[in-house]
This record gives sequence, C-alpha cells and structure tokens, in this order.
Amino acid sequence: MTDRNLPTKIVVIGGGYAGTMAANRLRLRDDVGITLVNPRPKFVERIRLHQLVAGTHDATVDYGGLLGDDINLVVDTATRIDTANRTVELATHPALDYDYLIYAVGSTGAVPASVPGAAEFAYPIAELEQAQRLRTAIDDLHPDAPVTVVGAGLTGIEAATELAEQGRSVTLVGGGQLAPYLSERGRRSVAKALRKLGIEVLEAAVVTEVRPSAVVFADGSVRDSAVTMWVAGFGVPDLAFASGLRTDTVGRLLTDETLTSVDDQRIVAAGDCASPSGVPLRMSCQMAGPLGMRAADTVLSRVAGTPPAVIDQASFGACISLGRRSGIVQLAHKDDRTVNLSFTGRFVAPIKEAVCKSTLWSLRREARKPGSAFWLKGGSRPEQRAFDPVAVVDR
Ligand SMILES: Cc1cc2nc3c(=O)[nH]c(=O)nc-3n(C[C@H](O)[C@H](O)[C@H](O)COP(=O)(O)OP(=O)(O)OC[C@H]3O[C@@H](n4cnc5c(N)ncnc54)[C@H](O)[C@@H]3O)c2cc1C
Repeated sequence: MTDRNLPTKIVVIGGGYAGTMAANRLRLRDDVGITLVNPRPKFVERIRLHQLVAGTHDATVDYGGLLGDDINLVVDTATRIDTANRTVELATHPALDYDYLIYAVGSTGAVPASVPGAAEFAYPIAELEQAQRLRTAIDDLHPDAPVTVVGAGLTGIEAATELAEQGRSVTLVGGGQLAPYLSERGRRSVAKALRKLGIEVLEAAVVTEVRPSAVVFADGSVRDSAVTMWVAGFGVPDLAFASGLRTDTVGRLLTDETLTSVDDQRIVAAGDCASPSGVPLRMSCQMAGPLGMRAADTVLSRVAGTPPAVIDQASFGACISLGRRSGIVQLAHKDDRTVNLSFTGRFVAPIKEAVCKSTLWSLRREARKPGSAFWLKGGSRPEQRAFDPVAVVDR
C-alpha cells in the first residue's frame, strides 16, 4: 500500500500525539513515503476522555488538518512487526513494507487481573471505547447512585472532579497516597478542592475486589458502588513484545537515547510506549509530542546518513483540571521532579483548556509547516526510574 516509487518508505504505527507529530515532521523530506496506521479514522484526544465520560466533550477530532498532505492514513490495527522482512502485518489490510518504522502505539486502560471482579465489573477510561462504555453506564445511573473512582493519580482526580461537579456522589480511593506526583502543597490544594466538591477521599484504602454494585476493601469492608471506575494506571500494547522486540517490564519498547530500538536500527519509538535506556519519561501528552518530533528526527538523520541526536526533554510539571471550573498547575524541575510550587483556582480552568487546544494547534502547525512545532527542551531523567518495578504507571 505504501508508494513503492518513493525511495524510502516510513510506516508510523499509532496516530496519537506522538505518531501524528512524527508523521507530520517526517515531511521535512519530500522524497519519503509516509503511512500512518491507526485503528480509528479519527484522532482521539485522550486528555479529554474524562470529559467524554462526563458528557462535556466527545474527545475526537478529524484527521483532516491534523495530518499533512500526502500522508497515507490506513485505518487498521498492526498485529505484528516482521523485522526480518521489514513488514507490518495488519488485521484487515495487506501487510505494509517499510524501510523505517516509528512505533507510537501509546498506552492502554489497564485493569489488574489480580483483583477479582475488576476485569468484569470495573470501567477503565484510558481508551476511547472504554470511556464511551462508561459514559453509557453513567447516563443510565440514578443521579444519587454512588460512583467509586479507584486510583487517585492525576487521571483519577480529573475523572472524579468532572463527575462530582455534575452532582454525582463520588468516592475516590487512593490505594496509599492522593496524587503521588504532586508536591505537598499541590496535594493539599487538591484535597481541599475535592472536599469542596463533596468527594469522599479514602486515601489509604485499597480495593481488593469489585462486585457488580459494590467494592470490597483490604480490611474486608464492603461499600455500595453502582459504577466503579478503574484509573489506577496505564498499560501498554504488547505489539513490540509479541513481535520479538525487547521491552521493559511494562511492555514499552526498549530503545537507546536516540529512541532507536535496542534490537533494530530501523525501528524508532515515541510517546507512552517508548522506554529510552529503560528510563521512560512520564506517560503524558506533554512528553508524547516532543518524543514524536525526536523520533522523526532520528529517522530523518538515518535517511540522510548523519548521526541522530539524543533526546533532551524537559518537563514543566502538570496542569490538571478539577472539573470544568477549576484546576491546578504543578511546577517541576526539568527532570520532572516536582517543586513545592503550585497554583490552583478558577483561573487555571482556562489555562488547562488552552493547554488542551495547544496540543492540536501544534499538530496542525506541524502538518502545515513541517519543522515548525517547538517544545520545552533541555531536560534529564532521574536515574531511579530505571528500576521502577511497577507494572502499570499513571501519568
Ligand atoms: C483521561 C485522561 C486524561 C489525561 N490528561 C493528560 C493531561 O492533562 N496531560 C498530559 O500530558 N497527559 C494526559 N493524559 C495522558 C495522555 O493522554 C497520554 O500520555 C498520551 O495520549 C500519549 O500519547 P501517545 O501518542 O504516546 O499515545 P496515544 O495518544 O495513546 O496514541 C496511540 C495511538 O496508537 C493507536 N494504536 C495502539 N495500538 C495500535 C496498533 N496495534 N496498531 C495501530 N495503532 C495502534 C491507539 O489506538 C492510539 O490511537 C491523559 C490520559 C487520560 C486517559
């Protein structure tokens, strides 16, 4: 399906923040054929999936305008990367040949198999179809029905506040600590905002079983829960592992600092599914876009026969919505360790909205003029993350 008349064929798997950015940036050269494979014909704004659940946004955007001209969009799922023959096998279309491959499959909504009933009765929200399914369940609920959000990381907080603002009766279960990413000060501000919205926070509680309309805690207590959302971390697609490529313990593709697979020079990773030197950046849209740019740059360097640059990505922290009317900005060092400085209040809500819009704006800009997107650079990553044993990770 890729145009065989062009000298270099590049396939990008995954049309999220990283893959779309990478595909657009590859157009810095006009002698490459670019194919983007994505399971849906629309771009999913994952950072708005909690809004989809609450009915304040549909979290999808047409690829028109987001993707540069001449990028061949194939709506399909990659099922295997055949590195020996340099082809990508697809669920329904013929296989695609490639000279270079950008692996940008993102992350998934994970529910632990070790918690009885979680897979059957809990609702993850990190993928479009999961969020749509949860939306339907919420719509069918009596307004006073108890909703439990399991996971008090950034995604859990965004989801809980969105629903509580609409008058839902929400309990947020922390499993140890509220918002582990945030600074002390940020955590205190969030706790206050949650109280104001009437959210009951069970910070130390651990859910050990999910039933159709209840949750069971580690101390044996049982609590009614008409709908239980599971937002205690993201998983990763197993495509790389299933294709025989080395991954970290979570399943992210292991790469060097140029984002190149440690097994295959022709495969470059970007976004949530990349694990450079086994020290992955925090799963986030904030990191995915720049990593998409860097992955494209690495491929372009290889095509040009020049040495690719190493990644050097800084964090600014995080900007989290607390419902539609408030939010919090948490500042961080360049290496993503938080500083004890955060801002919260109504003025953050339009900032967060601007952040969401700016992600699409930068993709559109790169589509129009490859090489024009710019991001904060100059970071480093703390060494301790190399040994993170956690099987799923929150952003
Ligand atoms: C509710 C929610 C709120 C969030 N809010 C924020 C926020 O405020 N700020 C922030 O920085 N981050 C936020 N995140 C995290 C952020 O959405 C992710 O880190 C980001 O989407 C990662 O981008 P990506 O391009 O790596 O992956 P994705 O955006 O997940 O894109 C990957 C794409 O690859 C596709 N794909 C997967 N497997 C295959 C396959 N086999 N074949 C073809 N295509 C495939 C997927 O369907 C998807 O379209 C939030 C996440 C959620 C769920």
